[in-house]
Order: sequence, then structure tokens, then C-alpha cells
Amino acid sequence: MKEKIVAKFTEIYGRAPTVVTRAPGRIEFIGNHTDYNGGIVLGASIDRGIAVAVAPRDDAQRRFASDYSGATPKIVAVGGGKPQRQDGDDAWTNYPLGIIDSFPAFNLTPPEGFDYLAVSDLPVGSGLSSSAAIELASALAFLAITDQAPSREEVVKLARHAENNFVGVPCGILDQGVSGFGKKDHLVFIDCRALTFDTVPLPPDTHFWVFNTHTKHALADGLYEARHTECMDAAKTLGVELLVDGTIEALEAARPKLNESVYRRAKHVIEEIERVRQTVEALKRGDLAEVGKLITASHRSSQHLFENSTPELDFLVDQLTGILDVYGARLTGGGFGGAVMAMTNGRFDEKAADLVADAYRQRFQERPEVLHMQTGDGASVL
Ligand code: ADP
Ligand code: MG
Repeated sequence: MKEKIVAKFTEIYGRAPTVVTRAPGRIEFIGNHTDYNGGIVLGASIDRGIAVAVAPRDDAQRRFASDYSGATPKIVAVGGGKPQRQDGDDAWTNYPLGIIDSFPAFNLTPPEGFDYLAVSDLPVGSGLSSSAAIELASALAFLAITDQAPSREEVVKLARHAENNFVGVPCGILDQGVSGFGKKDHLVFIDCRALTFDTVPLPPDTHFWVFNTHTKHALADGLYEARHTECMDAAKTLGVELLVDGTIEALEAARPKLNESVYRRAKHVIEEIERVRQTVEALKRGDLAEVGKLITASHRSSQHLFENSTPELDFLVDQLTGILDVYGARLTGGGFGGAVMAMTNGRFDEKAADLVADAYRQRFQERPEVLHMQTGDGASVL
């Protein structure tokens, strides 16, 4: 990827970049809607990502280009100083601009003028967090040209700050945490309340297949918000600040005071947090069969208790979990549409994936997008 981006940068700007960085996309492995409940989550950094090349300029002009804006990238030039939000075709520059805008909040000095290029092999909007990848890669590049080296925790928080405040997407810490702390043949474990990051080994021959339905429930945003409210209501009734401090015993005791759907949302979250713990234990024993069972149990809980699955996602999970080479399958991300990921051994192949995609098309007319990946390293300077 480095040679390709250096060549492209030189072609566009007529000189070589001084720094090249890269950050991966991610898969939510297990831990569904646990983040805002103060819980824990496991994510996988994948072997696809976004590379960023930068060279400082003598003037204050900031010039951006990306393969995202077509085969012959258009150069978007903006002035120095505090970044202004961009609209329309140039809106993608809000990701790197958001990073620059967030520098002062982390006591960092923003870069002035530079030339910038992003090159990606990560599909956009497939639930793999291309946004976190471009944020992390941009952050490392801007830090390199300004000779600043905050801790990796700070870089991850900076990237999230940019997405929350400048881009305006209220995401949790999973996307940036996994892209920032990822490691090949590992999963990233995040404690969302303490904001601490760790890695857990994953056997090298583990594969991921993502089936993206490209469906989204018309009310997805409102439903997400409603789930959030139900979780906070349940916590209040249990007398805890966040559901991470709730127990199944306390929930059962409080059941008469809870309406049925609030009870079910809380049961999902409390049990899901426990499933993440059990997944870490099973991974330490190298017991992938057990990990697979936990993944599928997570989906069933989404389906029946949290009710953030859809017939499309359930269909994919039903198909996938009937296949010998699949350890487990679950919806990945917020739900109410989107994608299912399957964890498989190395024998599961394109042919097997095609059969699943064909069955899906027979049932729902559209063919899902199928992506195969393994784990890959986290954000770094190349
Ligand atoms: P995702 O699930 O992929 O993170 P988002 O909507 O959060 O979806 O982020 C996608 C946005 O990230 C794109 O609309 C674009 O603005 C930006 N982006 C992703 N990849 C690139 C790229 N290669 N170059 C420029 N911008 C990109
Ligand atoms: Mg995103």
C-alpha cells in the first residue's frame, strides 16, 4: 500500500510525501449495545484499511485528495487556522479537518499548511468503520508532521472527539479503539467505562465473512435512541448508574417494577456483558467452538430480547450457523439492518459464501455484499 500511495501522491502533488500512515477498519466481534451501558466489548481490527500520505507546505493552505472522490482525485483546498465544516462532495474532508479541529482540546498544536492524500481498500458504509480508519490514519500523519507524540489512548480519544464533535456522529469508543489498538491475530478488548484497551490472542487460521444486507430500518435512529432510554430506565430502577453494575439477580428481583420490554433490554445487556467475559475466557483456552456458541447466543439475544435484529439478519444467521465450518454468526453493529458477520475456519470459502448469498437472494431478491477478511494490525506510521 505504501508504494502505491507514494506514487499517487507524487503524481498529484509533484513531490513525495514526508509521512505515510495506515489504519484498519474493524468488526464488532461481541458486545452488542454494551458500550453506553458502561460495559465491555471485543472488536477485531481487519486486514483492510485506509492509508494517508502527507507533506507539509510552506504556506497555510491545506490541500486534500482521496481515491474516494474518483480515479482522478480532485484537490480540495482550504485555508489555515480553525477548520470550517465542508459540505456536498467535499464533506469527506470533515474527517481529517475534524482531527485538526480536535487538536487543541488535547493540548496539541494543529498543523498549518500541507498536501494530503487518502487511499483505501475498505468499503464505505459496510459497517467496517471506514470513518475511524480515516480519522486514525489522519491523526497519526498530522502528529508526525508536527513532531508530537501523545499516548495511543489520547490518539484514540482525539479521533472519537473529532467524529462526535466535528463530523457530528455520536459514536462510542469501539471504532477508534479497535483501529488504534488492533493487532494481527488478536482481538481488542475495551472497557467502555474505564476507557482501557487490551488485546486477546485469536488463533491465526480464524476467518471473518461479512454479509452486508444494505438494509436499514426506516426508524433505525429513533429505535437506537429508544433502546438507549430503556437501558437508562432499567438502570435507574435497579438503583445503579449504568447497567454494567446490574446483576441478573437484581434484575429478576426488580422485574415486577419493570415493564416487559425494559426488562428484556436490560436482560440482554447484562447477559451480553457476561458473554463478552466468557468469550475472553474461551479465547484464553483456545476454545473456538465455545467462542462460536457465544457469538450465536449474542445474536439470539439481539433477536429475542433486545429486538434490534431483522428478518434479513436472522435469515443469514440461520443459514450460516447450519454450516460445519462456521463457528458462529451474529449481527454486527447497531442492528435494525446492516450486516452479519460469521467467524469461520479456513475451509469456509467463496463457494460456501455464494450458497448463502444465493439463498438470501431467493428469499429477499437482493444479493448481499460478501466480504472476506482476517485480522490485521492497528493504526501505524508505515
Ligand atoms: P463507516 O461505517 O464506513 O464508518 P460512516 O458513514 O461512518 O461509515 O463513514 C463513511 C464516511 O467516511 C464516508 O462518507 C466518507 O466521508 C469518509 N471516508 C471513508 N473512506 C474514505 C476515503 N477513502 N477517502 C475519503 N473519505 C472517506
Ligand atoms: Mg463510521
